[in-house]
Amino acid sequence: MKTIQNYIDGELRNPQGNQWMDNINPSTGKVYGRIPLSDNSDVENAVQAAKRAFPAWSTTPYTERSRCLNVLADLIGKHAADLALAESIDNGKPVSLAAHVDIPRAESNIRFFASAINHYASEAHIMENTHVNYTNRKPIGVVACISPWNLPLYLFTWKIAPALAAGNCVVAKPSEITPQTAYLLSRLCIEAGLPNGVLNIVHGDGPTTGNAIISHPDIKAISFTGGTNTGAHIAREAAPKFKKLSLELGGKNPNIIFADCDYDKMLSTTLRSSFANQGQICLCGSRIFVEESLYEKFKTDFVAKVSKMKVGDPKDPKTKMGAVVSKSHMEKVLSYVQLAKEEGGKVLCGGEQVIPENEEISGGFFISPTVIEGLKFDCRTNQEEIFGPVVTITPFSTEEEAIKMANSVEYGLSATIWTQELSRAHRVANELQTGIAWINCWLVRDLRTPFGGTKSSGVGREGGFEALRFFTEAQNVCIEL
Ligand code: NAD
Repeated sequence: MKTIQNYIDGELRNPQGNQWMDNINPSTGKVYGRIPLSDNSDVENAVQAAKRAFPAWSTTPYTERSRCLNVLADLIGKHAADLALAESIDNGKPVSLAAHVDIPRAESNIRFFASAINHYASEAHIMENTHVNYTNRKPIGVVACISPWNLPLYLFTWKIAPALAAGNCVVAKPSEITPQTAYLLSRLCIEAGLPNGVLNIVHGDGPTTGNAIISHPDIKAISFTGGTNTGAHIAREAAPKFKKLSLELGGKNPNIIFADCDYDKMLSTTLRSSFANQGQICLCGSRIFVEESLYEKFKTDFVAKVSKMKVGDPKDPKTKMGAVVSKSHMEKVLSYVQLAKEEGGKVLCGGEQVIPENEEISGGFFISPTVIEGLKFDCRTNQEEIFGPVVTITPFSTEEEAIKMANSVEYGLSATIWTQELSRAHRVANELQTGIAWINCWLVRDLRTPFGGTKSSGVGREGGFEALRFFTEAQNVCIEL
């Protein structure tokens, strides 16, 4: 049994109240460890440690903060294989995905912000010969970073790295469903010699631990990634206290395929954008709209390819589809397949729980990749976030119709457009109500670009200098000449 501990004031600690939660391996369905269910007193200790560390960390030269972060990134690189295996066991994702995407991205997130802080400049506004204003961007103080289970270390570091680089001290909470790599990170922070209290990692669930963090009066900003309902709850809690908020929430992303697309490239990328990480990436395209003249060909080829995708043991380096993250999530995803049938949809492939022959993983949470057609664009299956290996395919006849259906949801995170016609690509991207639009590609990420959603997909932007701006308070200083 693996025991996870909190990381507070530079040391690993058990929860004060000695309350614990089970940690379950989604590919076996078995408990394999325990994690702290931290309460107010643990959060209080973490906040106090962060407050004590803030004066020194915020005045540490940025070059030194950058150096500390690079040491941490080096250690992630050195332990990448162990971290990838831990992520796979904790989350159910294929170890090859964790090794090629999650862990390298966690390392590069930290390296990126270690570098970005060296180039973070502020503006000056000169008023003829009378006054000069300059913008003094100061770290905020103690900030919270709360992350979800789908890309555990990847999204955790995406928040922590800019917060620390900008000179803040952090109280962070990973998802209670996938806490293992955040715990390993805390051990690496100790090895890296990160000053005590600069980063504190408190484990536990949302209602107890998460709420204690977001409602704490000394937490001045909250960077949150997770579900839209949780984001709304955090906004309600934080707004009257005027905490700064960055909310990265759910999605229901359209993938719009025009008949003139580069077909082979579109087909192979659409397989990935539908089912990577078992469809549990906020950027997966779960609503596929296909121009009428291409619809039957696409349907035949896509379903043939999806039917060949087999779920397998996430620990096996050859596995491409692993387990979904939990039993309750598996049940939620399968309930949407049932709903789709009730709404008149036809399941073209998949749609069921898979029980592998390999006895070791026969109790795991596996779902066959699922393609559904015949649904109206405004039915619940096509409007609500499923967040699993389930996509719908829908024909469209005109560009206007595709845009209307794509924009019909409450979400607005990302979209993918497949066409060879340049002006149409720009036109459609401009019409889509999303924070990100990919044209003839998917999940290409330049860490300098603004990242985030519109509508119920969130408020604010992460990435590049946007993140450093979020984690600093701008003060205008005006001097008479
Ligand atoms: P979730 O909202 O249930 O949990 C996210 C985090 O919030 C967890 O650490 C959880 O413990 C914590 N939390 C829950 N209740 C809380 C509360 N009352 N106060 C404070 N913290 C609380 O989300 P999830 O199920 O872990 O993640 C899946 C969701 O995340 C999906 O909706 C997905 O689209 C979204 N997501 C969005 C992005 C993005 O960049 N927009 C990226 C990844 C995932």
